[in-house]
Amino acid sequence: MQQVRLPARGKLRSTAVSLRLLQLFEETHRELRPRSAVPELSVEFFDFANINNTIRLREGRLQVRLSDLLEGAPDHVLRALAHILLAKMYRRPIDRAHALRYRRYVSTPHMSRKAHLVRQMRGRKRIISARGHTYDLDIIFEELNTRFFHGLLARPLMTWSSDRARNRLGHYDPAHNAIVVSRVFDHPRVPRYAVEYIVYHEMLHLKHPVTLRGTRRCVHSAEFKAEERQFPRLDEAMRFLRIL
Ligand SMILES: [Zn+2]
Repeated sequence: MQQVRLPARGKLRSTAVSLRLLQLFEETHRELRPRSAVPELSVEFFDFANINNTIRLREGRLQVRLSDLLEGAPDHVLRALAHILLAKMYRRPIDRAHALRYRRYVSTPHMSRKAHLVRQMRGRKRIISARGHTYDLDIIFEELNTRFFHGLLARPLMTWSSDRARNRLGHYDPAHNAIVVSRVFDHPRVPRYAVEYIVYHEMLHLKHPVTLRGTRRCVHSAEFKAEERQFPRLDEAMRFLRIL
């Protein structure tokens, strides 16, 4: 695997994420209190053990911490949450539509599975996130699903690995129904087709389940391999990943 130099990720992430979030909170603040100035705000994702969100006003500064389980949540959900938190903070009635929107989102099977998995994995200091800095694994999965599987595969939990281990490009974890892709590939210098290939390979594992024999984790039948060869940029991807 080629050496990929990575930027200081923690910082990049919080900048990109909080700009959008700040905007949402500011807009919501103006809706709730149109006549007062928006205080200085900080919004960050935090790895609470559960789906938990906090807001506090300290020395004129609003500090918001959102569960990182909500990273990647659609804007309408984050907006609903901004409303709920700010309304609570200012003791205003909570708009029912917003409350419902948020509730509905966090109680989807996908979210509760994610929350459950995170609780299980936190012990091992892992963080679940399909949306990387460069690539969103959920989007890649759905595109490949449409292109190659007639949209028939149910999307498992998609996540970048928490570490940068490069010994495994990716793997499908049947116990958690999760596809995990090594975080080293979430980088602009990694071409999209290479990430697509890794996900495609794991999707074939979804499609062709294996009965585990001994310690072998990765079994590729003739059928599996034939289907893998249908990946349009297979050779290029292999060359990039240096796994030929
Ligand atoms: Zn495999």
